[in-house]
Amino acid sequence: MSGLSGEEHDLLAAIERGPILARTLDWAAINSGTGNLEGLAAMAGRLADAFAALPGEIRLAEPAPVEKVDAEGRPHAVAHGRHLVLSVRPEAGRRVILTGHMDTVYARNHPFQACDWLDAETLRGPGTADMKGGLALMLAGLAAYEQGGPTLGPTLGYDVLINSDEETGSLSSAALIAELARGKIAALTYEPALPDGGMARARPGSGNYAAVIRGRSAHAGRNPEEGRNAVVAAGDLALRLAAARREGLSVNPARIEGGAPNNTVPDLAILHFNMRPRTPGLAEAARAAIDAAIAEVAAAHDVSIQLHGHVSRPPKPVGPGTEALYALVSRAAADLGQAMTWKDTGGVCDGNNIAACGVPVLDTMGALGGAIHSPGEFLLTGSLDARARLTALVMHRLDRHGVPA
Ligand SMILES: [Zn+2]
Repeated sequence: MSGLSGEEHDLLAAIERGPILARTLDWAAINSGTGNLEGLAAMAGRLADAFAALPGEIRLAEPAPVEKVDAEGRPHAVAHGRHLVLSVRPEAGRRVILTGHMDTVYARNHPFQACDWLDAETLRGPGTADMKGGLALMLAGLAAYEQGGPTLGPTLGYDVLINSDEETGSLSSAALIAELARGKIAALTYEPALPDGGMARARPGSGNYAAVIRGRSAHAGRNPEEGRNAVVAAGDLALRLAAARREGLSVNPARIEGGAPNNTVPDLAILHFNMRPRTPGLAEAARAAIDAAIAEVAAAHDVSIQLHGHVSRPPKPVGPGTEALYALVSRAAADLGQAMTWKDTGGVCDGNNIAACGVPVLDTMGALGGAIHSPGEFLLTGSLDARARLTALVMHRLDRHGVPA
């Protein structure tokens, strides 16, 4: 650690793996699948207790209302858990935002509920890497930063946001993310990095849609010409949307619901699809392609089509401010002797929403691990204290120097 100043060296000395690992194990034992409101409430309580070690005020923010289209083509409300917000030194001239999520992809009835050790350093368990380990190391890094060097205490202000719905697209927290990101000089998000220290650079945007197609039912043999077949229209729409795929824009017609018995022309079909545009320009092109396909299919099949959904994760391109933040973190990792590589990815996360607010964001500040969103999810526990040191050092350098232009 030759690149560290004496002050920085002292700042990092207090960080130990044991307490961070203990917290990770404790939190991973709580099921907090996005739909498990009791589990999320328990998790939020545990997080509020732990983050109370930091200065500032903690509150639990109510989720914004969210609607989902059901199998009958009708929108209905989806309940979400509350989001945790910690605000430290709100009066500070320079502030950053740190974000994570308390939910996991594993529902209460999923078979993957407990942790076990694959070897002395590798912990397999639900939400260990994504991202309870990340939340625990974020807290340890902030606590070390708050303790400060011997010469000068911390001056940087920050907000911590831990939402409850990241794994289903942050629909009930998107407005809160945007509100808290505004005016910040930088953002750190605690998604896991790859086992070799691989970090995410650019990310595409993502939009999930449901097109509700209503035709007219008729007898399949007696008067089919009077019917308007919604399933055939849905198939046509899927083909037209798929044809809009191009370099930098992926299109996935995923599921068609609806239909009728074999002797009836179906009057209802719901086409669910996902689009991932790599740039804001391609996001606009995607929207234009959807509108055109809907108009053509509605006219050709004499059906009505109602579209639900939008690009809820805007594309995250990498600009000069983001490059400067990446350089600062790369330098800090090198000074700590930690391996770090950088690559664009096809996945999306809350970093997309933060980037859309014009704030430079690094969104893989969390633990090292892999096989996330599967029963093989694992965490490299050596990264818990290593990455806590990285957080403390990055916060300290942001405090002392800001994000260099
Ligand atoms: Zn995650």
